[in-house]
Amino acid sequence: MITSPRIDLHTHSTASDGTLTPAELVRAAADAGLDVVAITDHDTTAGWAPAVAALPTGLSLVRGAELSCCWHGVEPALSLHLLAYLFDPESPELVAELARVRIARETRAERMVALLRADGVEVSWPQVLAGAAGGTVGRPHIAAALIRAGLVADTAEAFAPRWLGERYRLPKDDIDVFRAVELVRAAGGVPVFAHPRASRRGPIVPDELIADLAAAGLAGLEADHEDQSPAEQAHVRGLAAELGLLVTGSSDFHGTHKTVRLGAFTTAPQAYERILAEAGEVTPVATG
Ligand code: AMP
Ligand code: ZN
Ligand code: FE
Ligand code: FE
Repeated sequence: MITSPRIDLHTHSTASDGTLTPAELVRAAADAGLDVVAITDHDTTAGWAPAVAALPTGLSLVRGAELSCCWHGVEPALSLHLLAYLFDPESPELVAELARVRIARETRAERMVALLRADGVEVSWPQVLAGAAGGTVGRPHIAAALIRAGLVADTAEAFAPRWLGERYRLPKDDIDVFRAVELVRAAGGVPVFAHPRASRRGPIVPDELIADLAAAGLAGLEADHEDQSPAEQAHVRGLAAELGLLVTGSSDFHGTHKTVRLGAFTTAPQAYERILAEAGEVTPVATG
């Protein structure tokens, strides 16, 4: 019997806020029965080399990143996530933007820790930074410190409004989303809007912006994602069909920082092939 390949195009490792190292991530992907996995850490490509080095036989790796972006069409600006696949990791402008965003993330996390401490919450910046272990710093690393301090039971509770979801949340200094689409395309990559309709995560962008992004070079939309309801997933599919965009589905796996499992949502082979074709890669570069 011929079975369809299982493709998960959005996962995180310890290069950002996941809990498996890149090597553990690709082994876990093979163990989960995936044929293709993308490593898409926040604002970094640091996980690519160790993931390639540990790639199990038969598993294809899509090298990617999830770029922290903002849209200034409303006030205050909305933050959104852009998945970027198979771009040149040495593209100077993109490298500079990613480095800038990573530094801004550190400053922001340090300020969030200071706000917590000002309210008597026993978390320490050196410990949060050490917890990130050199990876891109994010709120899940502060969540881990709150868990260690016994103040919340798990990451989900740490993201409640009274903690990192609202009260102690500070904005990030993100990349303008139109500039990000342009930089990813200029670097030969393929940009896909991550969880564009995930209203449970916060305010969502209007469909008109997605149409404008499609005109500017956006390749696809992530429809199947745990943070989008079935109705939201259907809406994203409809919009993609209208705009001629490809559709992906993925787990957004973060190890134990989230409950979702690898391969919980997957991408159709046709969409994967279109990503490869748009990146100018007929076959994936890295196959174990
Ligand atoms: P940051 O990038 O620092 O703003 O942190 C956002 C990250 O936290 C994203 O990668 C999300 O996957 C993760 N996140 C957001 N909301 C939650 C939640 N409710 N539970 C667990 N992780 C979350
Ligand atoms: Zn994350
Ligand atoms: Fe995201
Ligand atoms: Fe993600």
